[in-house]
Amino acid sequence: MFLRQIVTAVTVLLTLGTAGAPPSAGAQTGAKRQVALVITNATVVTVDGTRRVLAPGAVAIDGADIVGVDTPAAIAAAFQPRQTIDGTGQIVMPGLINTHGHAPMVLFRGLGSDLNLMDWLQQYIFPAEAKVVTPAFVRTGTQLAALEMIRSGTTTFADMYYFEEEVARAASEAGLRGVLGETILKFPVPGARTPEEGLARTERYITQWKGHALITPAVAPHALYTLEAATLKACRDLADKHQVPLIIHLAETRAEVEASLTLANATPTKYLQGVGLWGPRTLAAHGVWVSPEDMPVLKAAGVAVSHNPESNMKLASGTAPVVDYLAAGVTVGLGTDGAASNNDLDMFEAMRFAAFLQKHARNDPRALPAPAVLDMATREGAVALGLGAQVGSLEVGKRADVIMVDTRGPRQTPMFDPVAHLVYSAHGDDVTTTIVNGKVLMRDRKVLTLNEAAVLADARAAAETVRAAVKK
Ligand SMILES: [Zn+2]
Repeated sequence: MFLRQIVTAVTVLLTLGTAGAPPSAGAQTGAKRQVALVITNATVVTVDGTRRVLAPGAVAIDGADIVGVDTPAAIAAAFQPRQTIDGTGQIVMPGLINTHGHAPMVLFRGLGSDLNLMDWLQQYIFPAEAKVVTPAFVRTGTQLAALEMIRSGTTTFADMYYFEEEVARAASEAGLRGVLGETILKFPVPGARTPEEGLARTERYITQWKGHALITPAVAPHALYTLEAATLKACRDLADKHQVPLIIHLAETRAEVEASLTLANATPTKYLQGVGLWGPRTLAAHGVWVSPEDMPVLKAAGVAVSHNPESNMKLASGTAPVVDYLAAGVTVGLGTDGAASNNDLDMFEAMRFAAFLQKHARNDPRALPAPAVLDMATREGAVALGLGAQVGSLEVGKRADVIMVDTRGPRQTPMFDPVAHLVYSAHGDDVTTTIVNGKVLMRDRKVLTLNEAAVLADARAAAETVRAAVKK
């Protein structure tokens, strides 16, 4: 461990050594380009293909795009910003990408703790949802989730819920990016009495939102144990027809595997392969109980996996074989799952738990090192959601989804290795500034796109309806 710290310190010193390098010749000739915003004098963790860290570095943003990532001197030579943010003492990094959740379920936060998945769903969540979930409830829940995400540095989230058009509306108004799927189940749910109604509603929603700058509509069949094979195939056909993502829960618990073996004498992965569910733009959430033979199936189909370590630990669902997925070449993103089973949307915490869980389960402190975890929470998450060309790293030409993380507090002092720092020391509350698509959503901890007091008041009122619904 000591040797690793020395190597890390040397790496940081070498990076620091490049900070005073003169700007490139090209940047010194001609007029400076006018841009909207420059963040300068920060430690810039790009998470690009070479995992470049600039200390200090600067990022130039114009319109929706990142137009420069370089040393402060090079950026100052090339750009004339209308606004400058001094990033001294802060890390600038790509916004975090939460690849699995149910945003409105923040309104069920802490409801029915210390139960296994099926008891928790059947005793609390499904009955409460049947009574209280309306478009207004979904809107309030999404606004509360959006506040929490913006305040903890999440800039893109994947979602599966009901009345997903309300999630899309609230998320886009808050300025967040989302891959948002309408959930389809075989029993009556809010918004659809039958799966056929659910499919029709999903198609209307897709048609309305396709092509939006921030929102990617998706089809979200809940899971193999809550849907008939014919509906699963219809979901695939609908996703293919509109070329939108498909999101599903996969092999979350051992019970799901047993149900699949009983039903079809196949693992969940192989069963869904047989149904014809796997295809492009597909995200499988959890993937805890997959066999070594399942992995090539997922890899060949281009299916990405969302790993949700906190939810898996809280519900004792098991330990996803993340290291094996990565070895098999399967894309793995990171998620929080709904706040009802976590109980927060803090992706920094998800990073730390992801690393700790693999190390603990494999008795190997080298398992899932910090850079790999940071990749999962940023660039790999973007790839998992089909957004790899747009977001996930700080690179010229990508959308400006950027966050700033304060490193000046007691918990953050000292800082030898910025990447290890982000994974093992940082909390969501350390995020000071959140930018999505070039728009500043939070500056110096003040959220600019939502009325925080009003959202909290609405959320407390909605929680009273939940309390009344589960009263025995
Ligand atoms: Zn889930």
